[in-house]
Amino acid sequence: MSSPSVSTTGSITGKLRLATVWLAGCSGCHMSFLDLDEWLIELADCIDMVFSPVASDSKEYPQDVDLCLVEGGVANSDNLALILQVRARTRLLVSFGDCALSANVPGMRNMLGGAEPVLRRGYLELADDSGVMPHAPGIVPELLPQVLPLHEVVPVDFYLPGCPPSAARIRAFLEPLLRGEAPLMEGAEMIRFG
Ligand code: SF4
Repeated sequence: MSSPSVSTTGSITGKLRLATVWLAGCSGCHMSFLDLDEWLIELADCIDMVFSPVASDSKEYPQDVDLCLVEGGVANSDNLALILQVRARTRLLVSFGDCALSANVPGMRNMLGGAEPVLRRGYLELADDSGVMPHAPGIVPELLPQVLPLHEVVPVDFYLPGCPPSAARIRAFLEPLLRGEAPLMEGAEMIRFG
């Protein structure tokens, strides 16, 4: 297998090492990826899927990843640690779906003004009986004060919007990369949110 190379346009030539990552999102973007249906079989011939919640239960993000689709915003300490590692080990990082691009649904908690009011609302004010604030350092990741879009935490190479991005849009994004070309991100069918 020839080793992949990244051109100055950000495209990849050769069989690429693909990863997908799920941060603070509903997994709908990953479900849309699975909606690629039979094209996934063609895709499988062109890639090595090296890390993904839909492909394996590996916990360690590998080195030397060519392309990673990252779903979701950065909401807690685990998300933050993972995205820093992903960025350090990935050539091309894709902000995958509106939650990654703008914080979107998980970011709705931002208007409550921080992690503590969110936890108080969820665990005390809305509790059926006697609520208890969760506190399990090292076991339950700490919420960040705000849910952040990916590009506010790490550099992003491509933005693939949509809630979720349709399977057709994901395919139209990946196909040029597999040909060694940069995807053309223009027109409503490629860049419309929602
Ligand atoms: Fe779910 Fe939409 Fe967020 Fe994707 S962008 S994780 S489909 S809420």
